[in-house]
Amino acid sequence: MLGEFDLIERFLKPARVSAAHSGVALGAGDDATVLTPEPGHQLVVSVDTSLVDVHFPADAPAEAIGHRALAVALSDLAAMGARSRWCLMALSQRHDAFADEAAATTWYADFSRGFHALCEAFDTVLAGGDVTAGALGISVTVMGETPSGRALTRAGARPGDVIAVTGALGGGAGGLHLWQRGERDMTHPLVKRYLLPTPRLEAGLRLRGLASAAIDVSDGLLADLGHLRRASGVGAELDEAALPPAAGLLEALGEREAVAAMLGGGDDYELLVTLAPDNVAKARQALAKCDVALTVIGRCSEQPGVRGVEAAREGWQHFQGERP
Ligand SMILES: [Mg+2]
Repeated sequence: MLGEFDLIERFLKPARVSAAHSGVALGAGDDATVLTPEPGHQLVVSVDTSLVDVHFPADAPAEAIGHRALAVALSDLAAMGARSRWCLMALSQRHDAFADEAAATTWYADFSRGFHALCEAFDTVLAGGDVTAGALGISVTVMGETPSGRALTRAGARPGDVIAVTGALGGGAGGLHLWQRGERDMTHPLVKRYLLPTPRLEAGLRLRGLASAAIDVSDGLLADLGHLRRASGVGAELDEAALPPAAGLLEALGEREAVAAMLGGGDDYELLVTLAPDNVAKARQALAKCDVALTVIGRCSEQPGVRGVEAAREGWQHFQGERP
């Protein structure tokens, strides 16, 4: 069977990068990696763990598992308006998960292809990796940079600010719903949203300086809006009819469940932002350059709590409990 060092050498090795731009002063082959941040910048760091049967289904393709583990971690950098630069990965996988070495090799090659392709798409260097025997799980630490003092946070929203969301909602929950009912077409738009999400890194960069607060939608719109509201000390009035549904969501779930999925489904990895009303048009223009829509879905208020979504509360709680 493949040993730990074989695995790291063959599949988890840091991608070859031009030393001048990678910021990797000392890479693989020593006890730790030495990184050089840009002068005048702050490091923005986050870690995310993806566990089989908790965060992704056991029968998901290995390539998607690799992609998704990195994508969900990068989404947190997007929410901070950070440029992604480096990541570290700790993988655990059972030694007895495969029938033979050929099956193991195929799995690791597919997993690593999904992971490295996303690294490349977002100029992120895998700066170190570790492999352990255990239930399938991937911990990814991502490191990005913002000019000092410029990171977006959850805490800047003010009463009167507009609440807006990038892209579309409900795709994560819709894709999970279809997967649980046997859909295995990886090109289905909802399955793609669930298993191959795209972190909104470029949108996050463009919103820096325009948004007053930001968070990524990982736990569900209402849950993540709750985090942002508490950090900022504001309430929210939402316009349920304005929520932008993911392509195919209404057809897959019906209208009532689609609204519940948009409010509570999670796994959408869109950005939820607040903006001074004057900045909305500028933000839309900026995001149009990276082909990302921005939809206004409500407004921050002084009155605490959330108004405008009473009808969907029951369905929202239902989705809070649904996992692979
Ligand atoms: Mg987050």
